[in-house]
Amino acid sequence: MQQPAAGRARIDIVQRFAVKQQSVRGQFVRLGPAWLALREHGDYPEPVRRMLGEAVTAAVLLASTLKFQGELTLQLQGDGAVRLLVAQCTNDFRIRAVARFDRERVEASLRDTAALTDPFAVLAGAGTLVVTVEADRLASRYQGVVPISGGSLAASLEHYFETSEQLPTAVVLGADDFGTAGLLVQRMPDHGGIVTASVDTAKQTFAAARAAIGGVQRDELLARPPEDLMRRVFNGLDVRVHESHLVGFRCRCSRERVSGMLRSLGLEEVRSIIAEQQSVTVTCEFCHRPWRFDPVDALQLFGAPVDQVPGSTTLN
Ligand SMILES: [Zn+2]
Repeated sequence: MQQPAAGRARIDIVQRFAVKQQSVRGQFVRLGPAWLALREHGDYPEPVRRMLGEAVTAAVLLASTLKFQGELTLQLQGDGAVRLLVAQCTNDFRIRAVARFDRERVEASLRDTAALTDPFAVLAGAGTLVVTVEADRLASRYQGVVPISGGSLAASLEHYFETSEQLPTAVVLGADDFGTAGLLVQRMPDHGGIVTASVDTAKQTFAAARAAIGGVQRDELLARPPEDLMRRVFNGLDVRVHESHLVGFRCRCSRERVSGMLRSLGLEEVRSIIAEQQSVTVTCEFCHRPWRFDPVDALQLFGAPVDQVPGSTTLN
């Protein structure tokens, strides 16, 4: 197996930073081991892996711009070879992701050399980027939808921030087999406080950062020390890291969640599965863990008497 190049992430981290005394802030994400753990759970062709890596990195960037308790979902739905991609990040930066794709169409798009520089546009096709934030305890849910645009996930994300939150935003994303990285810079509304530089200064800083981000190559994003990237993007301005958090792969599937799903299927449907397969097994799409319910367990979810299990014998 190929070895990762020097300088690649050995930890998974998201950092929030701000330009000192200016209303310009951002987030930087780099994933190594968590990305390796995540992609072990699916057999994806290279360009789909890359898209998945960028999407999960984007989900971490989005989550780190918000204050919430729960789960953020970034979903891409399109008419390309990858028809659905779901990447999730919790408020404590636990990630998981899955893609549904048409293998033949992916291979066909690879044969098209024009698609090789950034296969995103071909793989995603025309469709939407949906961001959903679900709070754990309150029954609250926020959802923002924008069209997939600009030929990349980074451009679609910029469009999302500019239309949903009215925040000028520059994003660069990258992923390969060994790691992923993302950098997001935003110009915030100026509320005074610690911000002493003028709005015009912040506008100039943001415009220069956006231009510099446009020139960052994927290999640099994935491997260069974050301080070097910051120096380049902010042209030597004083950038302070405010918070760092570890990110990890963790699937949120549980017996309780699967039980809820089976209850929503209904007793009749579950009975017919048992009649056919003698038990009910639900395999998690994200981590492929099989959750098995024998007939007794499955029927008890509905409070159904166990002696109604098809094919079972009742002891007297
Ligand atoms: Zn799972």
